[in-house]
Amino acid sequence: MPAPVILWFRRDLRLADNPALQAALRSAAPILPLYVLDETPDLRAPGAATLWWLEKSLAALAADVEARGSRLILRRGPAERVVADLARETGASGVCWNAVFDPGVPARDARLAEALAAAGVEARRFNGGHLLSPDKVRTKTGGQFSVFTPYWRAARPLVNPGEPAPAPAALPAPADWPGSDRLADWGLHPTRPDWSKGFKDWTPGEAGAAERLDAFIHGALKSYAGDRDRPDREGISRLSPYLHFGEISPKACWRAAQAAALRGEVPDAQVDKFLAELGWREFNANTALAAEARGDAPEKVNVDRRFDAFPWRDDPKAFAAWTRGMTGYPIVDAGLRQLWTTGWMHNRVRMVVASFLTKHLLIDWRAGETWFWDTLVDADHASNAGNWQWVAGCGADAAPYFRIFNPVTQGEKFDPDGTYVRRWVPELARMPAKLIHAPWAADKAILSACGVTLGLTYPHPIVDHGVARQRALDAYQSLKADR
Ligand code: FAD
Repeated sequence: MPAPVILWFRRDLRLADNPALQAALRSAAPILPLYVLDETPDLRAPGAATLWWLEKSLAALAADVEARGSRLILRRGPAERVVADLARETGASGVCWNAVFDPGVPARDARLAEALAAAGVEARRFNGGHLLSPDKVRTKTGGQFSVFTPYWRAARPLVNPGEPAPAPAALPAPADWPGSDRLADWGLHPTRPDWSKGFKDWTPGEAGAAERLDAFIHGALKSYAGDRDRPDREGISRLSPYLHFGEISPKACWRAAQAAALRGEVPDAQVDKFLAELGWREFNANTALAAEARGDAPEKVNVDRRFDAFPWRDDPKAFAAWTRGMTGYPIVDAGLRQLWTTGWMHNRVRMVVASFLTKHLLIDWRAGETWFWDTLVDADHASNAGNWQWVAGCGADAAPYFRIFNPVTQGEKFDPDGTYVRRWVPELARMPAKLIHAPWAADKAILSACGVTLGLTYPHPIVDHGVARQRALDAYQSLKADR
């Protein structure tokens, strides 16, 4: 029997459309599917919500692998050591994996590939997580794009989704299996307390991803461009955690959306908007990689270095009120409670709550980024840091700092009947639509008829919008004056 090949699953927890898996199959050798709970000390540790997701996703992958006559080997420790050890232990001739571009990972992978090569083991790396490898798209002069529109104009024609490679019917098994950890022993599911009860609507894993994509293509995609901003509607795909963990490839999403347009089921404009959002995911990865190449961790360093002098406030009480969804601004509170309960938040509301933190409360975007990192099931290094910097005004192609969302008008515009707020802030459920986004503007009789006592059943606003807005503008002016 030929020496086995290790198929190292990372953020590509799927069997279909997986270039590393296809390469392992082509080698015609027995395959050792491996997942490493990476404990490399200088890599950013995953947040709690993503660990919840990871456990379910690994269980699904293990079942899919077993259904094909194989096993998923689980090991933990610094991946560089674990992979090299397993190669030695099993006499593997090669290791195949799909690239991950998080800070520190490409350098670590390069070291590992070198060590494997020195031991006579071939490391084969592929791009399975992006439409285009993030290190590939450059300006005509070889520079870094800093604005999305020209980036996308250059990148989009390069996207070649190719033919999908279906999941194999079988995975060739080795004669002997190396030992594996038990998934349950990794303790990824929260127990003390179990805060994940509200995560029950998610189905992590490849089958859940395919179902989600199918439902979206035959449903919300048809009116995506208009409805994607409406948290009160099911107007988006909710594919982000599946894409983050690679349970579906972005190319599969691309193909499915384009096929719907070709069949004449969905207008081109709707499909183009969706593809452009996949483009933002690419742009963020591209920007994060460039930041890292400059030595700037994207979750720590302002892309616009003028913001290094920004007078952020230290206000633990206000930050705590924000994290708990107790700011007194209903759309903000609804978003943060949706996040805490389900591990996910609608994009429009992410923008509103991020703007509220950085502008109304003048709290450093890095505090919000860290909160999202721990609580989002789709917490993604490049997209989280990139979007936080975008909202805060200090990122690549950022929204100007002086554009300050008014949380009341944002609520009125994007949740006009208050459906979203009613769901997540039930203490306001009986408020009339006209007043639900500004309950303090209601007179006492209305509040009392709706069972609302401000300061008791629901907080007073922790800051006045007008005052906070002016304070933020002054802070921004001080930054400009300092220059
Ligand atoms: P859809 O609207 O259906 O879009 C399809 C896919 O396109 C998404 O799944 C996602 O992969 C990608 N996408 C859409 N919008 C963006 C965007 N603005 N930036 C990057 N990719 C995008 N997204 C993450 O995946 N992980 C994060 O950690 C993350 N943090 C964010 C933090 C803030 C402050 C903000 C404002 C946005 C953040 N986003 C993040 C982007 C966006 O909110 C989510 O990707 C989106 O809400 C996911 O929902 P969906 O899958 O239904 O998106």
